[in-house]
Amino acid sequence: MAAHRIGIIGFGKIAQDQHFPAIRANPNFELIAVASQRGLAPNGIKHIFRDYREMLTSVPDLQAVAICTPPQVRHDIARDVLIAGKSALLEKPPAATLSELEDLRQIAAEMRRVLFTTWHAQYNRGVEMARNTLIGRTVRRMLVTWKEDVRHWHPGQQWIWQPGGFGVFDPGINALSIVTRIMPEPVFIQQSELQFPSNRDAPIAADLRFTNGEGGADLKAVFDWRQTGPQTWDIEVEPEGGPILKLSQGGCRLEIDGEIVVDEKPDEYPAIYRQFDTLLTEGRSEIDEAPFRLVADAFMVGRRVQVEPFAD
Ligand code: NAP
Repeated sequence: MAAHRIGIIGFGKIAQDQHFPAIRANPNFELIAVASQRGLAPNGIKHIFRDYREMLTSVPDLQAVAICTPPQVRHDIARDVLIAGKSALLEKPPAATLSELEDLRQIAAEMRRVLFTTWHAQYNRGVEMARNTLIGRTVRRMLVTWKEDVRHWHPGQQWIWQPGGFGVFDPGINALSIVTRIMPEPVFIQQSELQFPSNRDAPIAADLRFTNGEGGADLKAVFDWRQTGPQTWDIEVEPEGGPILKLSQGGCRLEIDGEIVVDEKPDEYPAIYRQFDTLLTEGRSEIDEAPFRLVADAFMVGRRVQVEPFAD
Protein backbone atom coordinates (compact mmCIF):
# COMPACT_ATOMS: atom_id res chain seq x y z
CA MET A 1 0.00 0.00 0.00
CA ALA A 2 1.25 3.50 -0.84
CA ALA A 3 2.33 5.69 2.08
CA HIS A 4 -0.09 8.35 3.34
CA ARG A 5 1.08 11.71 1.98
CA ILE A 6 1.06 14.07 4.94
CA GLY A 7 1.81 17.73 5.71
CA ILE A 8 2.54 19.61 8.93
CA ILE A 9 1.10 23.02 9.84
CA GLY A 10 3.16 24.93 12.44
CA PHE A 11 6.79 23.87 12.62
CA GLY A 12 7.42 24.79 16.28
CA LYS A 13 8.83 22.82 19.21
CA ILE A 14 6.56 19.78 19.17
CA ALA A 15 6.55 19.47 15.37
CA GLN A 16 10.37 19.51 15.30
CA ASP A 17 10.98 17.38 18.42
CA GLN A 18 8.29 14.72 17.89
CA HIS A 19 6.08 14.86 14.79
CA PHE A 20 8.81 15.13 12.19
CA PRO A 21 10.96 12.27 13.61
CA ALA A 22 7.89 10.05 14.15
CA ILE A 23 6.63 10.61 10.57
CA ARG A 24 10.11 10.08 9.12
CA ALA A 25 10.50 6.79 11.01
CA ASN A 26 7.14 5.41 9.86
CA PRO A 27 7.26 3.91 6.34
CA ASN A 28 3.48 4.27 6.02
CA PHE A 29 3.81 8.07 5.91
CA GLU A 30 5.56 10.43 3.52
CA LEU A 31 6.02 14.04 4.67
CA ILE A 32 5.54 16.03 1.46
CA ALA A 33 4.62 19.52 2.69
CA VAL A 34 5.15 21.92 5.60
CA ALA A 35 3.33 25.20 6.24
CA SER A 36 5.33 27.46 8.52
CA GLN A 37 4.75 31.17 9.01
CA ARG A 38 8.50 31.52 9.52
CA GLY A 39 9.28 29.37 6.48
CA LEU A 40 10.90 26.62 8.58
CA ALA A 41 10.98 23.01 7.35
CA PRO A 42 13.34 20.04 7.46
CA ASN A 43 15.69 19.50 4.53
CA GLY A 44 14.34 17.67 1.52
CA ILE A 45 10.66 18.62 1.86
CA LYS A 46 9.08 19.10 -1.58
CA HIS A 47 6.53 21.78 -0.73
CA ILE A 48 7.08 24.59 1.80
CA PHE A 49 4.56 27.41 2.34
CA ARG A 50 4.27 30.36 4.69
CA ASP A 51 0.46 30.33 4.38
CA TYR A 52 -1.15 26.97 5.10
CA ARG A 53 -4.09 27.80 2.80
CA GLU A 54 -1.71 27.78 -0.14
CA MET A 55 -0.55 24.30 0.89
CA LEU A 56 -4.16 23.08 0.89
CA THR A 57 -4.84 24.37 -2.64
CA SER A 58 -1.45 23.76 -4.29
CA VAL A 59 -0.67 20.18 -3.25
CA PRO A 60 -3.56 18.09 -4.60
CA ASP A 61 -2.05 14.75 -3.60
CA LEU A 62 -1.80 15.81 0.07
CA GLN A 63 -4.06 13.42 2.04
CA ALA A 64 -3.64 14.40 5.67
CA VAL A 65 -2.28 17.19 7.83
CA ALA A 66 -0.89 17.28 11.37
CA ILE A 67 -1.88 20.58 13.02
CA CYS A 68 0.88 21.49 15.49
CA THR A 69 0.00 25.12 16.22
CA PRO A 70 -1.12 26.60 19.54
CA PRO A 71 -4.76 25.70 20.35
CA GLN A 72 -6.23 29.18 19.82
CA VAL A 73 -5.93 28.88 16.02
CA ARG A 74 -6.46 25.12 15.67
CA HIS A 75 -10.20 25.26 14.89
CA ASP A 76 -9.98 27.69 11.96
CA ILE A 77 -7.07 25.76 10.49
CA ALA A 78 -8.64 22.32 11.01
CA ARG A 79 -11.87 23.53 9.42
CA ASP A 80 -10.00 24.67 6.32
CA VAL A 81 -8.06 21.38 6.22
CA LEU A 82 -11.21 19.23 6.41
CA ILE A 83 -13.17 21.37 3.94
CA ALA A 84 -10.23 21.07 1.53
CA GLY A 85 -10.84 17.31 1.69
CA LYS A 86 -7.82 16.36 3.84
CA SER A 87 -7.82 14.32 7.02
CA ALA A 88 -6.59 16.03 10.19
CA LEU A 89 -4.50 15.03 13.19
CA LEU A 90 -4.90 17.50 16.05
CA GLU A 91 -2.21 18.10 18.67
CA LYS A 92 -3.61 18.44 22.17
CA PRO A 93 -5.64 20.36 23.25
CA PRO A 94 -7.77 19.73 20.14
CA ALA A 95 -9.29 23.24 20.01
CA ALA A 96 -9.83 26.27 22.23
CA THR A 97 -13.44 25.38 23.18
CA LEU A 98 -15.73 22.35 23.23
CA SER A 99 -18.03 23.95 20.64
CA GLU A 100 -15.14 24.27 18.23
CA LEU A 101 -14.34 20.60 18.62
CA GLU A 102 -17.97 19.66 18.05
CA ASP A 103 -17.94 21.73 14.86
CA LEU A 104 -14.87 19.83 13.65
CA ARG A 105 -16.53 16.51 14.44
CA GLN A 106 -19.50 17.47 12.26
CA ILE A 107 -17.40 18.77 9.39
CA ALA A 108 -15.22 15.65 9.38
CA ALA A 109 -18.35 13.49 9.19
CA GLU A 110 -19.87 15.59 6.40
CA MET A 111 -16.61 15.60 4.43
CA ARG A 112 -16.03 11.89 5.16
CA ARG A 113 -12.51 12.63 6.35
CA VAL A 114 -10.61 11.26 9.34
CA LEU A 115 -10.33 13.47 12.42
CA PHE A 116 -7.93 12.32 15.14
CA THR A 117 -7.67 14.04 18.55
CA THR A 118 -4.30 12.97 19.93
CA TRP A 119 -3.55 12.72 23.65
CA HIS A 120 0.11 11.77 23.66
CA ALA A 121 0.29 10.86 27.36
CA GLN A 122 -2.18 8.02 26.80
CA TYR A 123 0.33 6.16 24.62
CA ASN A 124 2.45 4.56 27.31
CA ARG A 125 2.23 0.87 28.18
CA GLY A 126 2.00 1.70 31.90
CA VAL A 127 -1.21 3.65 31.20
CA GLU A 128 -2.77 0.71 29.37
CA MET A 129 -1.76 -1.70 32.13
CA ALA A 130 -3.21 0.63 34.80
CA ARG A 131 -6.46 0.82 32.83
CA ASN A 132 -6.69 -2.96 32.58
CA THR A 133 -5.91 -3.39 36.29
CA LEU A 134 -8.68 -0.97 37.29
CA ILE A 135 -11.45 -2.43 35.12
CA GLY A 136 -14.47 -3.36 37.27
CA ARG A 137 -13.01 -1.83 40.46
CA THR A 138 -14.27 1.03 42.61
CA VAL A 139 -11.66 3.74 43.07
CA ARG A 140 -11.49 5.16 46.60
CA ARG A 141 -8.43 7.41 46.34
CA MET A 142 -6.64 9.21 43.53
CA LEU A 143 -3.89 11.78 43.76
CA VAL A 144 -2.54 13.42 40.62
CA THR A 145 0.62 15.48 41.15
CA TRP A 146 1.74 17.29 37.99
CA LYS A 147 4.42 19.81 38.84
CA GLU A 148 6.90 21.17 36.34
CA ASP A 149 9.00 24.21 35.52
CA VAL A 150 7.25 26.33 32.90
CA ARG A 151 10.46 28.25 32.16
CA HIS A 152 12.17 25.01 31.18
CA TRP A 153 9.38 23.46 29.08
CA HIS A 154 7.88 26.57 27.45
CA PRO A 155 10.74 29.05 27.09
CA GLY A 156 9.48 32.30 25.59
CA GLN A 157 6.08 30.88 24.56
CA GLN A 158 3.54 33.67 25.10
CA TRP A 159 0.45 31.84 23.77
CA ILE A 160 0.30 29.62 26.88
CA TRP A 161 -0.43 32.70 29.02
CA GLN A 162 -3.01 34.20 26.70
CA PRO A 163 -6.76 33.46 26.86
CA GLY A 164 -7.31 30.05 25.30
CA GLY A 165 -3.70 29.05 26.02
CA PHE A 166 -4.82 27.00 29.06
CA GLY A 167 -1.86 27.95 31.31
CA VAL A 168 -0.94 25.09 33.65
CA PHE A 169 -3.66 22.98 32.03
CA ASP A 170 -1.43 22.74 28.96
CA PRO A 171 0.55 20.03 30.82
CA GLY A 172 -2.31 19.30 33.24
CA ILE A 173 -4.51 18.10 30.40
CA ASN A 174 -1.95 15.34 29.80
CA ALA A 175 -2.58 14.09 33.35
CA LEU A 176 -6.32 14.36 32.81
CA SER A 177 -6.01 12.38 29.56
CA ILE A 178 -4.44 9.56 31.60
CA VAL A 179 -7.14 9.86 34.27
CA THR A 180 -9.97 9.60 31.73
CA ARG A 181 -8.22 6.63 30.12
CA ILE A 182 -7.58 4.58 33.27
CA MET A 183 -10.51 5.33 35.56
CA PRO A 184 -13.16 2.58 35.45
CA GLU A 185 -15.98 5.14 35.95
CA PRO A 186 -16.18 8.74 34.71
CA VAL A 187 -14.95 11.43 37.08
CA PHE A 188 -16.45 14.90 37.47
CA ILE A 189 -14.92 18.16 38.65
CA GLN A 190 -16.39 19.03 42.03
CA GLN A 191 -14.14 21.93 43.05
CA SER A 192 -11.45 23.87 41.28
CA GLU A 193 -9.14 26.60 42.56
CA LEU A 194 -7.15 28.37 39.87
CA GLN A 195 -4.14 30.57 40.68
CA PHE A 196 -3.65 33.34 38.14
CA PRO A 197 -0.49 35.49 38.23
CA SER A 198 -1.64 39.10 38.44
CA ASN A 199 -0.02 39.89 35.06
CA ARG A 200 -1.29 36.84 33.12
CA ASP A 201 -4.57 35.62 31.62
CA ALA A 202 -4.06 31.91 32.35
CA PRO A 203 -3.49 29.98 35.60
CA ILE A 204 -0.03 28.97 36.85
CA ALA A 205 -1.41 26.41 39.34
CA ALA A 206 -4.66 24.53 39.97
CA ASP A 207 -6.12 22.39 42.75
CA LEU A 208 -8.93 20.09 41.63
CA ARG A 209 -11.28 17.80 43.49
CA PHE A 210 -13.34 15.18 41.68
CA THR A 211 -16.26 12.89 42.35
CA ASN A 212 -16.88 9.55 40.69
CA GLY A 213 -20.42 8.97 41.87
CA GLU A 214 -19.11 6.89 44.81
CA GLY A 215 -19.66 8.91 48.01
CA GLY A 216 -16.57 9.37 50.13
CA ALA A 217 -13.98 8.84 47.40
CA ASP A 218 -10.92 11.10 47.85
CA LEU A 219 -9.97 12.19 44.32
CA LYS A 220 -7.60 15.13 43.84
CA ALA A 221 -5.22 16.73 41.37
CA VAL A 222 -2.55 19.34 42.01
CA PHE A 223 -0.98 21.12 39.03
CA ASP A 224 1.85 23.61 39.47
CA TRP A 225 4.09 25.26 36.92
CA ARG A 226 6.54 26.72 39.45
CA GLN A 227 8.45 23.55 40.28
CA THR A 228 12.21 23.79 39.86
CA GLY A 229 14.54 20.83 40.40
CA PRO A 230 13.08 17.36 39.92
CA GLN A 231 9.82 17.38 37.96
CA THR A 232 6.80 15.39 39.11
CA TRP A 233 4.28 13.69 36.84
CA ASP A 234 2.67 11.11 39.17
CA ILE A 235 -0.77 9.55 39.47
CA GLU A 236 -1.60 7.31 42.44
CA VAL A 237 -4.83 5.33 42.40
CA GLU A 238 -6.20 3.08 45.11
CA PRO A 239 -9.31 1.01 44.44
CA GLU A 240 -11.34 -0.67 47.17
CA GLY A 241 -9.50 -3.84 48.25
CA GLY A 242 -6.29 -2.74 46.42
CA PRO A 243 -3.91 -2.93 44.71
CA ILE A 244 -2.24 0.50 44.93
CA LEU A 245 -1.14 1.79 41.54
CA LYS A 246 1.46 4.48 40.99
CA LEU A 247 2.09 5.85 37.51
CA SER A 248 5.13 8.09 37.35
CA GLN A 249 7.27 9.84 34.73
CA GLY A 250 4.10 10.77 32.85
CA GLY A 251 2.96 7.15 32.54
CA CYS A 252 6.27 5.56 31.47
CA ARG A 253 6.62 3.80 34.79
CA LEU A 254 3.99 1.82 36.70
CA GLU A 255 4.26 0.36 40.19
CA ILE A 256 1.60 -1.97 41.53
CA ASP A 257 1.76 -2.46 45.31
CA GLY A 258 5.32 -1.10 45.25
CA GLU A 259 6.57 -3.47 42.54
CA ILE A 260 7.73 -1.91 39.26
CA VAL A 261 5.81 -3.63 36.46
CA VAL A 262 6.54 -1.19 33.62
CA ASP A 263 9.56 1.10 33.24
CA GLU A 264 10.08 2.15 29.64
CA LYS A 265 11.26 5.06 27.54
CA PRO A 266 8.35 7.04 26.04
CA ASP A 267 7.11 5.83 22.65
CA GLU A 268 4.24 8.28 22.45
CA TYR A 269 4.56 9.92 19.04
CA PRO A 270 5.56 6.79 17.08
CA ALA A 271 2.46 5.17 18.65
CA ILE A 272 0.29 8.15 17.67
CA TYR A 273 1.38 7.77 14.03
CA ARG A 274 0.79 3.99 14.10
CA GLN A 275 -2.75 4.75 15.26
CA PHE A 276 -3.20 7.48 12.63
CA ASP A 277 -2.09 4.99 9.97
CA THR A 278 -4.78 2.56 11.17
CA LEU A 279 -7.47 5.27 11.22
CA LEU A 280 -6.57 6.51 7.72
CA THR A 281 -6.48 2.98 6.35
CA GLU A 282 -9.86 2.16 7.88
CA GLY A 283 -11.38 5.61 7.12
CA ARG A 284 -12.38 6.04 10.75
CA SER A 285 -12.20 9.09 13.06
CA GLU A 286 -11.12 8.97 16.71
CA ILE A 287 -12.46 11.92 18.69
CA ASP A 288 -11.96 11.79 22.44
CA GLU A 289 -13.14 14.92 24.19
CA ALA A 290 -13.16 13.59 27.78
CA PRO A 291 -9.90 15.24 28.99
CA PHE A 292 -10.89 18.49 27.28
CA ARG A 293 -14.31 18.47 28.98
CA LEU A 294 -12.68 18.21 32.43
CA VAL A 295 -10.55 21.26 31.69
CA ALA A 296 -13.59 23.21 30.50
CA ASP A 297 -15.43 22.18 33.68
CA ALA A 298 -12.48 23.19 35.87
CA PHE A 299 -12.63 26.68 34.35
CA MET A 300 -16.45 26.73 34.56
CA VAL A 301 -16.66 26.00 38.30
CA GLY A 302 -13.22 27.42 39.13
CA ARG A 303 -12.58 29.87 41.94
CA ARG A 304 -9.99 32.40 40.82
CA VAL A 305 -7.16 33.39 43.17
CA GLN A 306 -4.65 36.08 42.22
CA VAL A 307 -0.99 35.32 42.94
CA GLU A 308 2.30 37.16 42.41
CA PRO A 309 3.19 38.25 38.85
CA PHE A 310 5.13 35.83 36.68
CA ALA A 311 8.23 36.94 34.78
CA ASP A 312 9.64 34.75 31.95
P1 NAP B 1 5.45 26.41 19.71
O1 NAP B 1 6.88 25.98 19.85
O2 NAP B 1 5.07 27.80 20.04
O3 NAP B 1 5.05 26.05 18.21
C1 NAP B 1 3.82 26.35 17.66
C2 NAP B 1 4.04 26.79 16.22
O4 NAP B 1 2.78 27.01 15.60
C3 NAP B 1 4.78 28.12 16.10
O5 NAP B 1 6.16 27.94 16.22
C4 NAP B 1 4.36 28.56 14.73
O6 NAP B 1 5.17 27.82 13.81
C5 NAP B 1 2.92 28.03 14.62
N1 NAP B 1 1.97 29.09 14.91
C6 NAP B 1 1.94 29.92 15.96
N2 NAP B 1 0.92 30.78 15.87
C7 NAP B 1 0.28 30.48 14.73
C8 NAP B 1 -0.85 31.03 14.05
N3 NAP B 1 -1.50 32.07 14.57
N4 NAP B 1 -1.23 30.48 12.90
C9 NAP B 1 -0.55 29.43 12.36
N5 NAP B 1 0.54 28.87 12.95
C10 NAP B 1 0.93 29.40 14.11
O7 NAP B 1 4.49 25.49 20.56
P2 NAP B 1 4.64 23.91 20.83
O8 NAP B 1 5.29 23.69 22.14
O9 NAP B 1 5.18 23.22 19.63
O10 NAP B 1 3.10 23.55 21.06
C11 NAP B 1 2.18 23.41 19.99
C12 NAP B 1 1.07 22.50 20.44
O11 NAP B 1 1.65 21.22 20.78
C13 NAP B 1 0.35 22.99 21.70
O12 NAP B 1 -1.02 22.75 21.59
C14 NAP B 1 0.97 22.16 22.81
O13 NAP B 1 0.06 21.95 23.88
C15 NAP B 1 1.25 20.85 22.09
N6 NAP B 1 2.34 20.07 22.71
C16 NAP B 1 3.52 20.64 23.05
C17 NAP B 1 4.50 19.88 23.69
C18 NAP B 1 5.84 20.46 24.09
O14 NAP B 1 6.60 19.78 24.79
N7 NAP B 1 6.21 21.65 23.66
C19 NAP B 1 4.27 18.54 23.98
C20 NAP B 1 3.08 17.97 23.57
C21 NAP B 1 2.13 18.75 22.94
P3 NAP B 1 5.55 28.38 12.36
O15 NAP B 1 6.28 29.66 12.56
O16 NAP B 1 6.38 27.28 11.82
O17 NAP B 1 4.25 28.58 11.63
